[in-house]
Parts: sequence; structure tokens; C-alpha cells
Amino acid sequence: MEPLISIENLKKHYATPAGDVEVLKGVNAKIFSGEMVSIMGPSGCGKSTLLYILGMLQSATSGRYQIMGQTVSGLNSRRSAEFRRKNLGFVLQSCNLFEHSTVVENLEYPLIYGKISKGKRKQIVKKALQQVGLSHRIGHPTNRLSGGEQQRVAIARALVNQPAVIFGDEPTGQLDRKTGDMVMNCFKQVAAGKNRAVVLVTHDMDIARRCDRQFVLSDGILQEK
Ligand code: ADP
Ligand code: MG
Repeated sequence: MEPLISIENLKKHYATPAGDVEVLKGVNAKIFSGEMVSIMGPSGCGKSTLLYILGMLQSATSGRYQIMGQTVSGLNSRRSAEFRRKNLGFVLQSCNLFEHSTVVENLEYPLIYGKISKGKRKQIVKKALQQVGLSHRIGHPTNRLSGGEQQRVAIARALVNQPAVIFGDEPTGQLDRKTGDMVMNCFKQVAAGKNRAVVLVTHDMDIARRCDRQFVLSDGILQEK
């Protein structure tokens, strides 16, 4: 089976006043459709850096990156942005929703941006909310939802473009255990969808254990546990 994501010898340096810092020293990984994988590692080891490179929000210094068989390392910024919008989704630690808008409005924004017609938008939003178990909250102002519900709305928002990969950077970091569990169930279901994978950065061992595969980033190298 072809991997959904394939990275080879990925390196990332940051230039700092104190000199060059090599955060990623040659990272290799293959992630397959249907998988939910975790990336753990000590604070400052480069987890977010790796996730942002995988999510095409940042570029690597060198190395090869392929998604769905397409080489995306080396795309210019316009092409990268387009590829990202069509194929990738993000859920961050704080959900970054427009809190004075309703749930449906939050989910519609990326679709309006993608020039999807109104009728189609409604259909897509309904389906995304169903997937996260929040159909009954469609008209709710976002700031009246609980933390767990807000994070599930963020997952639904990531889903509306039908991304191949959803990336989460400590997506349960601000939730209590029970709420975090619900959010993880949600991710699990999302990952089980056709032609899709979920990549989560976490420092929580229990969260990592719920993933199909677990990676640890340490000293700039990624290893599977
Ligand atoms: P983690 O998410 O594992 O805590 P990060 O990826 O945020 O780690 O950061 C890894 C290292 O790279 C840290 O030492 C951090 O200070 C450094 N770093 C991150 N972003 C930059 C940047 N834009 N410029 C310089 N150094 C950076
Ligand atoms: Mg981080």
C-alpha cells in the first residue's frame, strides 16, 4: 500500500543570534491511510516544528516530503497554500473559533473561502457536525459551548474541506480527562474514514497510547516506539 505521507531525511535549521540550531536532523516516516499516529517528546524538541512542516505551514531546510504520492517539498508558497487548503486540516490546542459566531458560521467560513455554493455548504456542515456528534449545536453561539464541544467544532471545521490528513498540536491539552477522551474518540472516527490519517502531537502518554502508532522525537530524530 502507498503511504499517505512519506518523509525522507527531513532537516530543519533555525538561524538564531546564537548561531544555527538544528532542530530536525533527518526525520523519516511513513504514515498510511486509516492511521492515527502520535508524536511525543520533551518540550522544545521540535514537535511543533515537525507538525507544521508536515502540515505545510512551514518548510523544511532539506529533505523530501510526499503526500498522496505528490512531492510537496519545494512547492512555492502559493502552490503550498492551495495544496494545504484542499488536503490538510488543523486542530490546535486552543480552538481558534470565532467565538461570537455560531457553530454553522464557523464551519462555513472555509467553504465560503473555497467558493462552495450555499446549498452545498449546508450539506457539508451538517455532515461534519454529525461526524463529531454535535448536530444539535448547529445554531449555537460558539462561546456558549463547553471546552470539549468547542474542540469538536474545531475538528468539524477541519473536516469540511475533506482533508486527507488532520494534524493536531496538543489538541486535548486544555481539556480534562473525560472531555479529552471524547475528543480522542472523535479523532479516532475521523482517522477511520476513507483515505484519511490523523497525526497528533501530545505530551500525554494516555493520549499517545490510544493511537495506532506512536513516535518519539528526540535529539532531532523520530523513532517509532
Ligand atoms: P516543541 O513543540 O517540541 O516544544 P518547537 O518545535 O516549538 O518544540 O521548538 C523546537 C526548538 O526550535 C526550540 O528550541 C525552539 O526554541 C526553536 N524554534 C522554534 N521556532 C523557532 C524560530 N522561528 N526561530 C528560531 N528557533 C525556533
Ligand atoms: Mg509545541
